[in-house]
Amino acid sequence: MKRIGIIICDRYNTCNGGKCFRAVRERDGAFKKYGKEEVEVIGYSTCGGCPGGNMEYVATGMKNYGADIIHFATGMLAGYPPCPYIDVFKDHIEKNIGVKVEIGTHPMPTNYILNHENIQDIPSKHKSYWKILTNPDDAKKYDSSRANYNEELEVELEKQ
Ligand code: SF4
Repeated sequence: MKRIGIIICDRYNTCNGGKCFRAVRERDGAFKKYGKEEVEVIGYSTCGGCPGGNMEYVATGMKNYGADIIHFATGMLAGYPPCPYIDVFKDHIEKNIGVKVEIGTHPMPTNYILNHENIQDIPSKHKSYWKILTNPDDAKKYDSSRANYNEELEVELEKQ
């Protein structure tokens, strides 16, 4: 059993979390690594807005509620510009709070990747975090603008 917390970029503080929670259930994106292991989401919150004033508080709280791992949501990478503090937050949470951090949750949209690959405006450090999030088939599954998106989701949910 792994207990995880999810921290999102506050630019998306009204996000319903649907993609992150679906990716947990489906073991997609950054959650693939858990395979068949049971996963419980023990907390979901935001960084509090630039420059992340809620990070220490929320990560400490997640640790107190049993988090083994904290995931930074994909929106920290896939919103433009990507969060400039990702490595600072990760270092602080791992070294000072004592919880491992993984970068990413659900798969990244392929059009975002192609667009920014083309413009070449993403720092290489951030791009190194893309790897586990850029499977085009997984990304397609999460693209709610597709015509048959709802039908596919219904089938997926009926299998639960
Ligand atoms: S860019 Fe970073 S610090 Fe700013 S709101 Fe998003 S996650 Fe928080």
